[in-house]
Amino acid sequence: MSTTTAQTSTRTIRDGAFGHATGLACRECGATQDLGPYYVCRECFGPLEISYDFPAITREQIEAGPANIWRYKALLPVPADIELSPNMEPGYTRLLRADNLGRELGIARLWVKDDSTNPTNSFKDRVVACALSAARELGSTVFACPSTGNLANAVAAAGARAGIKTVVFIPSNLETPKQVNSAVYTENLVAVDGNYDDVNRLAGEIAGEEDGWAFVNVNVRPFYAEGSKTLGYEIAEQLGWRLPDQIVIPVASGSQLTKVHKAFQELIKLGLVEDKPVKVFGAQATGCSPVSAAFREGWDAVKPVRPDTIAKSLAIGNPADGVYVLDIVRETGGAIADVSDDEVRDAIVLLARTEGVFTETAGGTTVGVLKKLVETGQLDPELETVVINTGHGLKTLDAVTDRVGARATIAPTYDAFVAAGIA
Ligand SMILES: *Cc1c(COP(=O)(O)O)cnc(C)c1O
Ligand SMILES: [Zn+2]
Repeated sequence: MSTTTAQTSTRTIRDGAFGHATGLACRECGATQDLGPYYVCRECFGPLEISYDFPAITREQIEAGPANIWRYKALLPVPADIELSPNMEPGYTRLLRADNLGRELGIARLWVKDDSTNPTNSFKDRVVACALSAARELGSTVFACPSTGNLANAVAAAGARAGIKTVVFIPSNLETPKQVNSAVYTENLVAVDGNYDDVNRLAGEIAGEEDGWAFVNVNVRPFYAEGSKTLGYEIAEQLGWRLPDQIVIPVASGSQLTKVHKAFQELIKLGLVEDKPVKVFGAQATGCSPVSAAFREGWDAVKPVRPDTIAKSLAIGNPADGVYVLDIVRETGGAIADVSDDEVRDAIVLLARTEGVFTETAGGTTVGVLKKLVETGQLDPELETVVINTGHGLKTLDAVTDRVGARATIAPTYDAFVAAGIA
């Protein structure tokens, strides 16, 4: 399999196309290479990550920026004029103080970072915005992805708005709302008979064969992944330029967790927040919990699994960044835990009834794990805690349709109302 697409060989990349990014560096061996549609190290096949030469930047400069992720554009691999190109303008979502949920779980200071309010209702709009910028600068002609659902929604919408052809690949057993939420934006929704790991393998093969295709989470993955840093930047800024004591993050490929941690480290290095330890916790559903299992067993490697869970947006059996998640969680004194599908359903209802936030199964997983971590004593309830809600409940309605519903169906009369015993 080729590790690059060929379309850039004749095209020169304009100055400043990737902002203050300086190159790609291997996470394993440190070997460097030029910025481009590359994602695998030439020396050791390890994953590549963006390197930067950051300018001096102040809180005030960031605060003067737009109310979306581009307020942090100096810290992302995007050009200085990024706001001028049509994009979904994601980010700067609410950080909600969650006192009711905190009281229920016995946590003194709890916040929910609510990313369900992004343009296509998941955190994926952040990563896709960065991948779209890279695809545009590289001259890609097709914007594509293998997806567990939300990514396809975000790619299809962003591509429509940018006027670039989109092709999105999903497992054929995906929830209907997630399929419709892609198909409404693109005529090229491709359902593949297989699980996400099969779809991902196919995408890698196509990326190697077809010219001009930017697969957001395959051949432009280093650019895509940087978008998740904005979650970390926003949490710190919204806390008044402070870091929390601990944070609970869902884990699919593990990219988001590693990048939120990276964002906190960058803010410290840039002098934008005070240095302090932040314990990082990961959340998985038991039916797809390879990283949680490795944590529990004390393994250094992650053993791939075949996913079987209602938390389909987290159903990656062979997570690309799984080992880096293990490193970060162990290094910071956090943990990874998993919860059953029934606990996911309970947590969706708990978050909705305590905070008025309707999350999808991924958020149910994260809140369910938060509850479990307190019960098992792995998370200190006296410390300031942030939990990330990454997606919207309307995309996974079936998960709770048996749990909630009309309390009574009554005739339109006062007597019937009284008989129902609601007052
Ligand atoms: C993709 C996704 C995640 C996690 O993504 P990573 O691959 O671990 O970065 C979490 N929540 C939702 C809703 C998602 O769609
Ligand atoms: Zn390498």
